[in-house]
Amino acid sequence: MTRTPRALSVVALSVTAGLLVPATPADATARFTPGAPGAGDPYFPDMGNGGYDVAHYDIGLRYDPKTKGITAVTRVTARATQNLSRFDLDFLGPLTISSLRVNGHKAAYARTGAQELVITPRRGLRKNHRFTVTVAYSGVPRTVDDPALGTSGWVPTPDGAVMLNQPTGAATVFPVNDHPTDKATYTFTLTTPKGITALANGDLKGTRTSGAWTTARWQVRDPMASELSMLAIGKFDVLTGRTRTGIPNLTATDQVLGIKPDLAKKFLDQTADITDFQASLYGRYPFTSTGGIAVKAGIDYALETQSRPVYDMRRGGAIPSGTLLAHELGHQWFGDTVSPKRWADIWLNEGFATYSEWLYSEKFAGTPVQQSFDEAFAAPPTSLLWKGKVSDPGRDGIFDGLVYDRGAMAIHILRRTIGDKAFYRLLKAWPAAYRHGNASTEDFVRFAERISHKNLRAWATTWLYSEGKPPLGPRTGS
Ligand SMILES: [Zn+2]
Repeated sequence: MTRTPRALSVVALSVTAGLLVPATPADATARFTPGAPGAGDPYFPDMGNGGYDVAHYDIGLRYDPKTKGITAVTRVTARATQNLSRFDLDFLGPLTISSLRVNGHKAAYARTGAQELVITPRRGLRKNHRFTVTVAYSGVPRTVDDPALGTSGWVPTPDGAVMLNQPTGAATVFPVNDHPTDKATYTFTLTTPKGITALANGDLKGTRTSGAWTTARWQVRDPMASELSMLAIGKFDVLTGRTRTGIPNLTATDQVLGIKPDLAKKFLDQTADITDFQASLYGRYPFTSTGGIAVKAGIDYALETQSRPVYDMRRGGAIPSGTLLAHELGHQWFGDTVSPKRWADIWLNEGFATYSEWLYSEKFAGTPVQQSFDEAFAAPPTSLLWKGKVSDPGRDGIFDGLVYDRGAMAIHILRRTIGDKAFYRLLKAWPAAYRHGNASTEDFVRFAERISHKNLRAWATTWLYSEGKPPLGPRTGS
Protein backbone atom coordinates (compact mmCIF):
# COMPACT_ATOMS: atom_id res chain seq x y z
CA MET A 1 0.00 0.00 0.00
CA THR A 2 1.07 3.57 -0.47
CA ARG A 3 -0.65 6.38 1.26
CA THR A 4 -0.55 9.82 -0.25
CA PRO A 5 1.04 12.32 0.03
CA ARG A 6 4.18 10.77 1.55
CA ALA A 7 5.19 7.47 0.14
CA LEU A 8 3.89 5.24 2.85
CA SER A 9 2.53 2.59 1.55
CA VAL A 10 1.56 -7.33 1.18
CA VAL A 11 0.46 -15.07 2.25
CA ALA A 12 1.09 -20.65 2.22
CA LEU A 13 0.68 -22.06 -1.01
CA SER A 14 -2.66 -23.66 -1.71
CA VAL A 15 -2.45 -27.32 -2.39
CA THR A 16 -4.92 -27.84 -5.16
CA ALA A 17 -4.80 -31.61 -5.47
CA GLY A 18 -7.77 -33.29 -3.87
CA LEU A 19 -5.99 -36.32 -2.49
CA LEU A 20 -8.34 -39.20 -2.16
CA VAL A 21 -7.67 -41.37 0.81
CA PRO A 22 -9.15 -44.83 0.53
CA ALA A 23 -11.78 -45.61 3.14
CA THR A 24 -10.55 -47.80 5.92
CA PRO A 25 -12.46 -49.38 8.77
CA ALA A 26 -10.86 -46.81 11.08
CA ASP A 27 -12.83 -44.05 9.33
CA ALA A 28 -16.04 -45.17 10.88
CA THR A 29 -14.68 -44.16 14.26
CA ALA A 30 -12.46 -41.26 13.12
CA ARG A 31 -12.71 -38.19 15.29
CA PHE A 32 -14.08 -35.08 13.62
CA THR A 33 -13.35 -31.78 15.32
CA PRO A 34 -14.07 -28.10 14.53
CA GLY A 35 -11.58 -26.11 12.48
CA ALA A 36 -9.94 -23.18 14.29
CA PRO A 37 -11.77 -19.82 14.05
CA GLY A 38 -8.52 -17.96 13.25
CA ALA A 39 -5.27 -18.52 11.36
CA GLY A 40 -3.16 -17.74 14.43
CA ASP A 41 -1.99 -14.27 13.44
CA PRO A 42 -1.29 -12.33 16.66
CA TYR A 43 -2.26 -8.99 15.07
CA PHE A 44 -5.58 -10.24 13.65
CA PRO A 45 -6.72 -13.26 15.64
CA ASP A 46 -10.12 -13.41 13.88
CA MET A 47 -8.64 -13.38 10.41
CA GLY A 48 -8.41 -16.63 8.50
CA ASN A 49 -9.43 -20.03 9.85
CA GLY A 50 -8.01 -23.49 10.44
CA GLY A 51 -8.73 -27.01 9.21
CA TYR A 52 -8.76 -26.48 5.47
CA ASP A 53 -6.87 -24.97 2.60
CA VAL A 54 -8.73 -23.07 -0.13
CA ALA A 55 -7.76 -23.91 -3.73
CA HIS A 56 -10.18 -21.71 -5.65
CA TYR A 57 -12.75 -18.94 -5.29
CA ASP A 58 -15.41 -18.70 -7.98
CA ILE A 59 -17.12 -15.35 -7.39
CA GLY A 60 -20.21 -14.48 -9.41
CA LEU A 61 -21.44 -10.99 -8.64
CA ARG A 62 -24.04 -8.63 -10.09
CA TYR A 63 -23.77 -4.93 -9.24
CA ASP A 64 -26.83 -2.72 -9.53
CA PRO A 65 -26.07 1.04 -9.49
CA LYS A 66 -29.70 1.78 -8.59
CA THR A 67 -29.42 0.07 -5.20
CA LYS A 68 -25.59 0.21 -4.99
CA GLY A 69 -25.97 -3.40 -3.89
CA ILE A 70 -24.73 -6.77 -5.05
CA THR A 71 -26.32 -10.14 -5.65
CA ALA A 72 -23.65 -12.82 -5.47
CA VAL A 73 -22.84 -16.49 -5.42
CA THR A 74 -19.37 -17.49 -4.21
CA ARG A 75 -18.19 -21.06 -4.51
CA VAL A 76 -15.15 -21.94 -2.41
CA THR A 77 -13.26 -25.10 -3.32
CA ALA A 78 -11.05 -26.32 -0.47
CA ARG A 79 -9.24 -29.34 0.93
CA ALA A 80 -9.72 -30.42 4.54
CA THR A 81 -6.45 -30.53 6.47
CA GLN A 82 -8.07 -32.35 9.38
CA ASN A 83 -11.26 -34.36 9.92
CA LEU A 84 -13.73 -31.47 10.18
CA SER A 85 -16.97 -31.53 12.12
CA ARG A 86 -17.43 -27.87 11.27
CA PHE A 87 -15.37 -24.95 9.99
CA ASP A 88 -15.46 -21.16 9.64
CA LEU A 89 -15.22 -18.75 6.78
CA ASP A 90 -14.72 -15.02 7.31
CA PHE A 91 -17.74 -12.95 6.31
CA LEU A 92 -18.32 -9.38 7.47
CA GLY A 93 -21.14 -6.93 7.41
CA PRO A 94 -24.76 -6.74 6.48
CA LEU A 95 -24.99 -9.08 3.48
CA THR A 96 -27.91 -11.51 3.75
CA ILE A 97 -27.25 -15.19 3.02
CA SER A 98 -30.10 -16.87 1.09
CA SER A 99 -28.52 -20.29 0.65
CA LEU A 100 -25.45 -22.18 1.84
CA ARG A 101 -24.47 -25.63 0.61
CA VAL A 102 -21.50 -27.89 1.29
CA ASN A 103 -20.83 -30.39 -1.49
CA GLY A 104 -24.23 -29.51 -2.90
CA HIS A 105 -26.13 -30.26 0.33
CA LYS A 106 -27.76 -27.65 2.52
CA ALA A 107 -25.62 -27.01 5.58
CA ALA A 108 -26.33 -25.38 8.92
CA TYR A 109 -24.59 -22.07 9.52
CA ALA A 110 -24.38 -19.26 12.06
CA ARG A 111 -22.73 -15.86 11.99
CA THR A 112 -20.86 -15.22 15.22
CA GLY A 113 -18.19 -13.01 16.72
CA ALA A 114 -16.44 -10.36 14.71
CA GLN A 115 -16.49 -12.04 11.30
CA GLU A 116 -17.09 -15.77 11.64
CA LEU A 117 -19.44 -17.70 9.39
CA VAL A 118 -19.58 -21.03 11.21
CA ILE A 119 -20.62 -23.88 8.89
CA THR A 120 -21.71 -27.33 10.05
CA PRO A 121 -22.02 -29.76 7.14
CA ARG A 122 -24.50 -32.65 7.28
CA ARG A 123 -21.63 -35.04 7.78
CA GLY A 124 -18.01 -34.53 8.73
CA LEU A 125 -15.45 -33.66 6.08
CA ARG A 126 -12.57 -36.09 5.90
CA LYS A 127 -8.96 -34.97 6.03
CA ASN A 128 -7.36 -34.51 2.61
CA HIS A 129 -10.70 -34.58 0.82
CA ARG A 130 -11.78 -31.77 -1.41
CA PHE A 131 -15.06 -30.02 -0.66
CA THR A 132 -17.05 -27.08 -1.99
CA VAL A 133 -18.99 -24.42 -0.14
CA THR A 134 -21.52 -22.46 -2.22
CA VAL A 135 -22.94 -19.33 -0.63
CA ALA A 136 -25.65 -17.15 -2.24
CA TYR A 137 -26.09 -13.70 -0.71
CA SER A 138 -27.09 -10.13 -1.44
CA GLY A 139 -27.16 -6.62 -0.02
CA VAL A 140 -25.02 -3.50 0.10
CA PRO A 141 -21.54 -4.47 1.30
CA ARG A 142 -20.10 -2.39 4.07
CA THR A 143 -16.80 -0.57 4.15
CA VAL A 144 -14.24 -1.31 6.84
CA ASP A 145 -13.22 1.92 8.56
CA ASP A 146 -10.42 1.10 10.94
CA PRO A 147 -9.29 4.00 13.15
CA ALA A 148 -5.63 3.03 12.75
CA LEU A 149 -5.57 1.34 9.35
CA GLY A 150 -8.03 3.37 7.31
CA THR A 151 -10.68 2.38 4.82
CA SER A 152 -10.80 -0.95 3.01
CA GLY A 153 -13.29 -3.49 1.66
CA TRP A 154 -16.11 -2.35 -0.58
CA VAL A 155 -15.66 1.37 -1.24
CA PRO A 156 -18.30 3.25 -3.25
CA THR A 157 -17.07 5.63 -5.98
CA PRO A 158 -18.98 8.33 -7.91
CA ASP A 159 -19.78 5.84 -10.72
CA GLY A 160 -19.55 2.44 -9.05
CA ALA A 161 -17.34 0.83 -6.42
CA VAL A 162 -13.91 -0.55 -5.80
CA MET A 163 -12.95 -3.53 -3.60
CA LEU A 164 -9.60 -3.02 -1.86
CA ASN A 165 -8.90 -5.58 0.84
CA GLN A 166 -5.71 -4.81 2.76
CA PRO A 167 -5.71 -6.04 5.42
CA THR A 168 -9.25 -7.18 6.31
CA GLY A 169 -11.62 -5.99 3.58
CA ALA A 170 -12.20 -9.16 1.52
CA ALA A 171 -14.76 -10.56 3.95
CA THR A 172 -17.03 -7.57 3.25
CA VAL A 173 -17.63 -8.89 -0.27
CA PHE A 174 -17.19 -12.69 -0.24
CA PRO A 175 -16.92 -15.55 2.25
CA VAL A 176 -13.21 -16.14 2.52
CA ASN A 177 -10.36 -17.69 4.47
CA ASP A 178 -8.99 -14.22 4.96
CA HIS A 179 -5.31 -14.57 5.75
CA PRO A 180 -2.35 -14.14 3.42
CA THR A 181 -1.16 -17.67 4.16
CA ASP A 182 -4.07 -19.24 2.27
CA LYS A 183 -3.55 -18.30 -1.37
CA ALA A 184 -5.90 -19.55 -4.05
CA THR A 185 -6.80 -19.06 -7.69
CA TYR A 186 -9.87 -16.99 -8.56
CA THR A 187 -12.58 -16.59 -11.16
CA PHE A 188 -14.70 -13.43 -11.17
CA THR A 189 -17.90 -13.37 -13.20
CA LEU A 190 -19.12 -9.78 -12.95
CA THR A 191 -22.43 -8.48 -14.26
CA THR A 192 -23.07 -4.76 -14.56
CA PRO A 193 -25.43 -2.56 -16.58
CA LYS A 194 -24.31 -2.05 -20.19
CA GLY A 195 -21.80 0.84 -20.28
CA ILE A 196 -20.39 0.09 -16.84
CA THR A 197 -17.08 -1.74 -16.86
CA ALA A 198 -16.11 -4.39 -14.29
CA LEU A 199 -12.40 -4.93 -13.75
CA ALA A 200 -10.55 -7.44 -11.58
CA ASN A 201 -7.14 -9.04 -11.12
CA GLY A 202 -5.73 -11.36 -13.75
CA ASP A 203 -6.90 -11.84 -17.32
CA LEU A 204 -10.13 -10.93 -19.06
CA LYS A 205 -11.50 -14.15 -20.53
CA GLY A 206 -14.48 -12.59 -22.29
CA THR A 207 -17.49 -10.34 -22.06
CA ARG A 208 -21.08 -11.02 -23.04
CA THR A 209 -23.99 -8.58 -23.27
CA SER A 210 -27.51 -9.80 -22.82
CA GLY A 211 -30.27 -7.21 -22.82
CA ALA A 212 -29.31 -4.33 -20.54
CA TRP A 213 -26.52 -6.21 -18.75
CA THR A 214 -22.93 -7.06 -19.55
CA THR A 215 -21.01 -9.92 -17.94
CA ALA A 216 -17.21 -9.90 -17.80
CA ARG A 217 -15.21 -12.97 -16.80
CA TRP A 218 -11.80 -12.53 -15.19
CA GLN A 219 -9.43 -15.34 -14.32
CA VAL A 220 -6.54 -15.38 -11.85
CA ARG A 221 -4.43 -18.48 -12.55
CA ASP A 222 -1.63 -17.61 -10.15
CA PRO A 223 -2.25 -18.18 -6.43
CA MET A 224 -3.40 -14.94 -4.80
CA ALA A 225 -3.87 -13.77 -1.21
CA SER A 226 -7.41 -12.54 -0.49
CA GLU A 227 -6.05 -9.18 0.67
CA LEU A 228 -4.71 -8.66 -2.88
CA SER A 229 -7.97 -9.45 -4.68
CA MET A 230 -9.61 -6.45 -6.32
CA LEU A 231 -12.72 -5.33 -8.16
CA ALA A 232 -13.29 -1.98 -9.84
CA ILE A 233 -16.69 -1.14 -11.26
CA GLY A 234 -17.44 2.12 -13.06
CA LYS A 235 -17.12 4.02 -16.31
CA PHE A 236 -13.55 3.27 -17.32
CA ASP A 237 -11.40 3.97 -20.33
CA VAL A 238 -9.37 0.80 -20.82
CA LEU A 239 -6.07 0.51 -22.70
CA THR A 240 -4.28 -2.74 -23.44
CA GLY A 241 -0.90 -3.64 -24.85
CA ARG A 242 2.22 -5.58 -24.05
CA THR A 243 5.45 -4.57 -22.38
CA ARG A 244 8.62 -4.62 -24.48
CA THR A 245 9.37 -8.08 -23.11
CA GLY A 246 5.88 -9.28 -23.99
CA ILE A 247 3.94 -9.17 -20.72
CA PRO A 248 0.22 -8.42 -21.33
CA ASN A 249 -0.60 -5.00 -19.89
CA LEU A 250 -3.97 -3.43 -19.07
CA THR A 251 -4.55 -0.02 -17.57
CA ALA A 252 -7.85 1.70 -16.89
CA THR A 253 -8.76 5.21 -15.87
CA ASP A 254 -12.10 6.17 -14.38
CA GLN A 255 -13.78 8.72 -16.64
CA VAL A 256 -14.71 10.85 -13.61
CA LEU A 257 -10.99 11.68 -13.30
CA GLY A 258 -10.97 13.45 -16.68
CA ILE A 259 -7.57 12.05 -17.67
CA LYS A 260 -6.61 13.09 -21.20
CA PRO A 261 -5.88 10.29 -23.71
CA ASP A 262 -2.14 11.09 -24.00
CA LEU A 263 -1.74 10.85 -20.23
CA ALA A 264 -3.77 7.63 -20.12
CA LYS A 265 -1.36 6.25 -22.74
CA LYS A 266 1.59 7.41 -20.62
CA PHE A 267 0.12 5.50 -17.65
CA LEU A 268 0.02 2.34 -19.82
CA ASP A 269 3.56 2.87 -21.17
CA GLN A 270 5.17 3.73 -17.82
CA THR A 271 3.52 0.68 -16.24
CA ALA A 272 5.05 -1.42 -19.02
CA ASP A 273 8.53 0.10 -18.73
CA ILE A 274 8.68 -0.14 -14.94
CA THR A 275 7.42 -3.75 -14.99
CA ASP A 276 10.20 -4.66 -17.44
CA PHE A 277 12.84 -2.67 -15.49
CA GLN A 278 11.88 -4.42 -12.26
CA ALA A 279 11.85 -7.84 -13.96
CA SER A 280 15.46 -7.15 -14.98
CA LEU A 281 16.30 -6.60 -11.27
CA TYR A 282 13.94 -8.97 -9.44
CA GLY A 283 13.66 -11.81 -11.95
CA ARG A 284 10.81 -13.00 -14.13
CA TYR A 285 7.54 -11.12 -13.62
CA PRO A 286 5.52 -13.48 -11.41
CA PHE A 287 2.04 -13.16 -12.93
CA THR A 288 0.23 -13.58 -16.25
CA SER A 289 -0.34 -9.85 -16.77
CA THR A 290 0.49 -6.41 -15.42
CA GLY A 291 -1.35 -3.08 -15.40
CA GLY A 292 -3.01 -0.54 -13.15
CA ILE A 293 -6.31 1.14 -12.41
CA ALA A 294 -6.80 4.81 -11.57
CA VAL A 295 -9.93 5.46 -9.52
CA LYS A 296 -11.58 8.21 -7.51
CA ALA A 297 -12.46 6.58 -4.19
CA GLY A 298 -11.50 9.26 -1.68
CA ILE A 299 -9.30 6.91 0.33
CA ASP A 300 -5.94 8.50 -0.39
CA TYR A 301 -3.87 5.44 -1.03
CA ALA A 302 -2.70 3.12 -3.74
CA LEU A 303 -2.69 -0.65 -3.26
CA GLU A 304 -0.58 -3.41 -4.80
CA THR A 305 -3.58 -5.55 -5.81
CA GLN A 306 -2.14 -8.58 -7.61
CA SER A 307 -1.16 -8.06 -11.25
CA ARG A 308 -3.03 -4.75 -11.35
CA PRO A 309 -2.50 -2.14 -8.61
CA VAL A 310 -5.21 0.39 -7.87
CA TYR A 311 -4.32 4.06 -7.52
CA ASP A 312 -6.76 6.39 -5.82
CA MET A 313 -6.23 9.76 -7.46
CA ARG A 314 -6.86 12.82 -5.36
CA ARG A 315 -6.34 15.25 -8.19
CA GLY A 316 -8.46 15.10 -11.34
CA GLY A 317 -6.64 14.89 -14.68
CA ALA A 318 -3.45 13.39 -13.22
CA ILE A 319 -1.96 9.90 -13.45
CA PRO A 320 0.13 8.18 -10.74
CA SER A 321 3.73 9.36 -10.43
CA GLY A 322 6.58 7.12 -11.58
CA THR A 323 7.72 6.49 -8.01
CA LEU A 324 4.21 5.45 -7.00
CA LEU A 325 4.01 3.07 -9.97
CA ALA A 326 7.43 1.70 -8.99
CA HIS A 327 6.26 1.16 -5.42
CA GLU A 328 3.10 -0.79 -6.29
CA LEU A 329 4.65 -2.71 -9.18
CA GLY A 330 7.67 -3.58 -7.00
CA HIS A 331 5.18 -5.18 -4.62
CA GLN A 332 4.30 -7.75 -7.30
CA TRP A 333 7.58 -9.47 -6.33
CA PHE A 334 7.69 -8.26 -2.72
CA GLY A 335 4.29 -8.72 -1.06
CA ASP A 336 2.30 -10.38 -3.82
CA THR A 337 4.20 -13.44 -5.03
CA VAL A 338 6.16 -13.53 -1.75
CA SER A 339 3.65 -12.66 0.96
CA PRO A 340 4.12 -12.35 4.70
CA LYS A 341 3.56 -15.32 7.00
CA ARG A 342 2.16 -12.97 9.61
CA TRP A 343 1.15 -9.34 9.32
CA ALA A 344 4.09 -8.46 11.57
CA ASP A 345 6.36 -9.34 8.60
CA ILE A 346 4.93 -6.58 6.44
CA TRP A 347 8.23 -4.68 6.25
CA LEU A 348 9.26 -7.40 3.77
CA ASN A 349 6.59 -5.90 1.50
CA GLU A 350 6.89 -2.23 2.26
CA GLY A 351 10.66 -2.01 2.77
CA PHE A 352 11.26 -3.53 -0.67
CA ALA A 353 8.48 -1.48 -2.28
CA THR A 354 10.06 1.70 -0.90
CA TYR A 355 13.47 0.47 -2.04
CA SER A 356 11.84 -0.04 -5.46
CA GLU A 357 11.05 3.67 -5.45
CA TRP A 358 14.71 4.43 -4.72
CA LEU A 359 15.93 2.13 -7.50
CA TYR A 360 13.42 3.71 -9.88
CA SER A 361 14.53 7.22 -8.96
CA GLU A 362 18.16 6.29 -9.58
CA LYS A 363 17.39 4.77 -13.00
CA PHE A 364 14.80 7.25 -14.27
CA ALA A 365 15.48 10.50 -12.35
CA GLY A 366 19.21 10.31 -11.64
CA THR A 367 18.82 10.37 -7.84
CA PRO A 368 21.34 7.93 -6.38
CA VAL A 369 19.93 5.32 -3.99
CA GLN A 370 22.49 6.50 -1.43
CA GLN A 371 20.95 9.98 -1.55
CA SER A 372 17.46 8.54 -0.93
CA PHE A 373 18.90 6.62 2.02
CA ASP A 374 20.66 9.73 3.38
CA GLU A 375 17.48 11.77 3.18
CA ALA A 376 15.50 9.11 5.05
CA PHE A 377 18.28 8.57 7.61
CA ALA A 378 18.40 12.31 8.34
CA ALA A 379 15.23 11.98 10.43
CA PRO A 380 16.24 13.09 13.96
CA PRO A 381 16.56 10.44 16.69
CA THR A 382 13.38 11.78 18.25
CA SER A 383 11.37 11.07 15.08
CA LEU A 384 8.55 8.55 15.36
CA LEU A 385 10.33 6.77 12.53
CA TRP A 386 12.80 5.31 15.04
CA LYS A 387 10.17 4.18 17.51
CA GLY A 388 9.07 0.56 17.47
CA LYS A 389 10.62 -2.45 15.77
CA VAL A 390 10.62 -2.92 12.01
CA SER A 391 9.96 -6.65 12.48
CA ASP A 392 7.11 -6.07 14.91
CA PRO A 393 5.38 -2.73 14.32
CA GLY A 394 2.20 -3.70 16.18
CA ARG A 395 -1.26 -4.25 14.74
CA ASP A 396 -1.99 -0.54 14.44
CA GLY A 397 1.48 0.19 13.05
CA ILE A 398 1.52 -2.02 9.95
CA PHE A 399 1.25 1.02 7.68
CA ASP A 400 3.56 3.26 9.73
CA GLY A 401 6.65 4.99 8.41
CA LEU A 402 9.03 2.66 10.21
CA VAL A 403 7.79 -0.27 8.11
CA TYR A 404 8.40 1.67 4.91
CA ASP A 405 11.35 3.97 5.36
CA ARG A 406 13.25 2.04 8.04
CA GLY A 407 12.44 -1.11 6.09
CA ALA A 408 14.08 0.38 2.98
CA MET A 409 17.00 1.71 5.04
CA ALA A 410 17.51 -1.76 6.52
CA ILE A 411 17.68 -3.15 2.99
CA HIS A 412 20.23 -0.54 1.96
CA ILE A 413 22.44 -1.30 4.95
CA LEU A 414 22.14 -4.99 4.09
CA ARG A 415 23.33 -4.11 0.57
CA ARG A 416 26.32 -2.26 1.98
CA THR A 417 27.06 -5.17 4.32
CA ILE A 418 26.96 -7.94 1.72
CA GLY A 419 28.09 -5.97 -1.35
CA ASP A 420 26.33 -5.27 -4.62
CA LYS A 421 27.05 -8.64 -6.23
CA ALA A 422 25.41 -10.67 -3.47
CA PHE A 423 22.68 -8.07 -3.07
CA TYR A 424 21.57 -8.21 -6.69
CA ARG A 425 21.71 -12.02 -6.53
CA LEU A 426 19.45 -11.83 -3.48
CA LEU A 427 16.96 -9.52 -5.22
CA LYS A 428 16.38 -12.21 -7.86
CA ALA A 429 16.77 -15.34 -5.72
CA TRP A 430 14.34 -14.35 -2.94
CA PRO A 431 11.17 -13.93 -5.09
CA ALA A 432 12.10 -17.08 -7.00
CA ALA A 433 12.61 -19.17 -3.87
CA TYR A 434 9.32 -18.13 -2.26
CA ARG A 435 7.29 -17.74 -5.49
CA HIS A 436 3.54 -17.82 -4.77
CA GLY A 437 4.34 -18.51 -1.11
CA ASN A 438 4.87 -16.87 2.27
CA ALA A 439 7.91 -15.89 4.22
CA SER A 440 8.83 -14.44 7.61
CA THR A 441 11.46 -11.96 8.68
CA GLU A 442 13.54 -14.85 10.04
CA ASP A 443 13.22 -16.70 6.71
CA PHE A 444 14.63 -13.61 5.02
CA VAL A 445 17.56 -13.17 7.38
CA ARG A 446 18.54 -16.84 6.96
CA PHE A 447 18.11 -16.65 3.18
CA ALA A 448 20.28 -13.53 2.94
CA GLU A 449 22.95 -15.28 5.04
CA ARG A 450 22.90 -18.27 2.66
CA ILE A 451 23.16 -16.10 -0.44
CA SER A 452 25.92 -13.86 0.94
CA HIS A 453 27.85 -16.41 3.03
CA LYS A 454 27.89 -13.82 5.82
CA ASN A 455 26.67 -13.81 9.38
CA LEU A 456 23.96 -11.13 9.39
CA ARG A 457 22.86 -11.36 13.05
CA ALA A 458 24.29 -7.95 13.96
CA TRP A 459 22.54 -6.31 11.01
CA ALA A 460 19.23 -8.02 11.81
CA THR A 461 19.42 -7.17 15.52
CA THR A 462 20.16 -3.51 14.86
CA TRP A 463 17.89 -2.83 11.92
CA LEU A 464 15.00 -5.28 12.32
CA TYR A 465 14.73 -6.38 15.94
CA SER A 466 15.62 -3.20 17.87
CA GLU A 467 14.14 0.22 18.46
CA GLY A 468 15.98 3.50 18.02
CA LYS A 469 18.13 5.23 15.44
CA PRO A 470 21.15 3.01 14.79
CA PRO A 471 24.68 4.40 14.54
CA LEU A 472 26.06 4.26 11.01
CA GLY A 473 29.26 2.29 10.77
CA PRO A 474 32.01 3.07 8.27
CA ARG A 475 30.74 2.88 4.72
CA THR A 476 31.64 -0.29 2.90
CA GLY A 477 30.81 -1.04 -0.68
CA SER A 478 28.21 1.09 -2.47
ZN1 LIG B 1 3.26 -0.52 -0.31
